[in-house]
Amino acid sequence: MRDLLGSRAQTNVPLAPRVTLRVGGVAELFVEAKTIAELIECVQLAREHAVPFFILGNGSNILVRDGGIRGLTIENQCAEFSLDVTDSILSVESGASLPGIANRLARQGWSGLEWAIGIPGTFGGAIVGNAGAHGGTMADNLLRVTILDANGDVLELPKTNCAFEYRASRFKRAGGEIVLRAQIEMTRDDPQVCIARMNQYTEHRRRTQPTEPSVGSMFKNPPGDPSAPLRASFAGQLIEQAGLKGARIGNVAVSRVHANFFVNLGGATARDVLQLVDLVRDQVREQFGIELELEIQVVGEE
Ligand SMILES: Cc1cc2nc3c(=O)[nH]c(=O)nc-3n(C[C@H](O)[C@H](O)[C@H](O)COP(=O)(O)OP(=O)(O)OC[C@H]3O[C@@H](n4cnc5c(N)ncnc54)[C@H](O)[C@@H]3O)c2cc1C
Repeated sequence: MRDLLGSRAQTNVPLAPRVTLRVGGVAELFVEAKTIAELIECVQLAREHAVPFFILGNGSNILVRDGGIRGLTIENQCAEFSLDVTDSILSVESGASLPGIANRLARQGWSGLEWAIGIPGTFGGAIVGNAGAHGGTMADNLLRVTILDANGDVLELPKTNCAFEYRASRFKRAGGEIVLRAQIEMTRDDPQVCIARMNQYTEHRRRTQPTEPSVGSMFKNPPGDPSAPLRASFAGQLIEQAGLKGARIGNVAVSRVHANFFVNLGGATARDVLQLVDLVRDQVREQFGIELELEIQVVGEE
């Protein structure tokens, strides 16, 4: 497999610097895909040779176990985008930075993605997990996605075929389908108004979220009455009410700023993180009878 990928492929590449929590083992085989053609080629080669593969976006919604990822890790760096100003449609490759493009477009008076300003992911990762914040979600303005399916065909899917739900989509549930590109409907607005909205969201994050390395929210908010005012931070509130703010295992801790964020205090291991996940789940179950479900994906070998 390495021979087929040539000099592009590297072995035993540490993944911790490539994920926002800064923990985890190495990628057995690692390649950066800079174009959609390269991304497709890498996936097809892996499939033809029955090598397991993993698509890495910005690593902001995954925990890589300490044993690393077997097979081929493909880091998606496909980041071309264009905006058709006549019909206000953004066409973007799946490895592009969600907050980077949201920011750039908002400054030019294109509204629709300001909610994403503090979400440090790629478009691909955000579509897979239907990322959302401040009342917006990835599914809202999305028109269609182009995917590579499990048979190796490139298909266009309208939003209605993506089965978006709260922090989930068909791509997260099924796996095996790779998001290549997306088309998103934007609207015209005053650049100053767009910038003010982003600044308000950024300020809110500054006040309510920790600055240490994390994966954002560790757990999904449990299902409940969507109109209940507490729902937005429900998982965090349950953890806080269970008295777990500041709880620590090894070098990972439940943030004192936001209890649904686990923070790496320096040199944490995935094992520490998973032990803290178990501790928090057990306590919340015991005290409130509620089963917390992970929002992040745990990947790799123990
Ligand atoms: C400080 C901080 C704040 C955050 N705030 C929020 C928030 O407000 N709201 C929210 O929803 N999330 C939030 N997150 C979580 C995270 O940023 C988002 O879920 C983000 O969209 C993940 O994108 P990614 O590129 O990092 O995905 P990754 O973590 O790299 O990948 C996530 C999963 O998607 C798969 N994947 C990635 N790209 C593709 C592709 N092109 N095709 C198929 N599969 C793919 C991966 O294989 C993996 O299974 C936050 C994270 C941090 C660290």
